[in-house]
Amino acid sequence: MTPDRLLELQLTDTHIDQLRMRMPKLPEVVASVAADADVAGWERDAAAMRARIAGLEAEITASEHANEAIGKKRARLEQQLKTVIAPREAEALMHEIALLNGQRSELDDAELEAMDGLSQAEDSLTAHGQREAGLREAAASAAAQAAIARSASDADIAASLVTRDALRAEFDAPTLARYDSMRVAHNGIAVAKLNGLRCEGCHLDLSRGEVDDMKRLPADEWVECSNCGRLLVR
Ligand SMILES: [Zn+2]
Repeated sequence: MTPDRLLELQLTDTHIDQLRMRMPKLPEVVASVAADADVAGWERDAAAMRARIAGLEAEITASEHANEAIGKKRARLEQQLKTVIAPREAEALMHEIALLNGQRSELDDAELEAMDGLSQAEDSLTAHGQREAGLREAAASAAAQAAIARSASDADIAASLVTRDALRAEFDAPTLARYDSMRVAHNGIAVAKLNGLRCEGCHLDLSRGEVDDMKRLPADEWVECSNCGRLLVR
C-alpha cells in the first residue's frame, strides 16, 4: 500500500477515462456519424423533391379541372349563340366566349410550365435516387467499422477495469475514499509524480525546501502538492 501503487491505480484510471473520452472521437466512429449524416441529408433532399413533385401534380390537376369547367361553359355559350337572333345578344355571347378563350390560354400556358417543371423535378429525383444505394452501403459499412473499433475499445476498458479492481483491493476504504474524492476535485487526477521540483499534476514547481522536507519523510507517508493539493509520489 505504497504511494507508488496508488500512482499505478491513478494511471489505470486515467487510461480508462481516456478510452471513454476517445470513444466518440475514434476515426471509425466519426466516419460513421458523418456517413449517417449523409444519408439523413439525402433523405431530406428526397423528401423536398417529392413534395415539389406533389405540388406540381396538384397544380396540373387543378388546372385541368378549371380548363374542363371553362370548356363546358364555352360549349353552352356556343350552343346559345346558335339560337340567338338579336345581334347585341350575339355580340355579348361572343365577347364572353372570347374572354373564356383568353382564360383558357392562360391556364394552358401555366399548365405547360408546371409540366416542364414536373418533368425536370422527376429527372432530378431519379438522379438523386441513383445515389441512395451507395450512400446507404457506405453508412452500413462505416457503422460496421465503428462497431469493431468500439468493441476493441470496450475490450481495452474491460481489461483495465479488471486491473483497476485488483489495484483497489490493495487499499483500505479511507484511502480509496480520499483518492476518489480527490479525483472528483482535481479533474480525474488525484495522484501525480514529483519530477525534480515540479508537480506533474499542476505543472508548477514547489520550493526546494518543501521538496527536501518531503524527501526526508518515510517512503510510505502521503504528501500533497502545496499548489494543487494532489497527492505526490516522490
Ligand atoms: Zn500540483
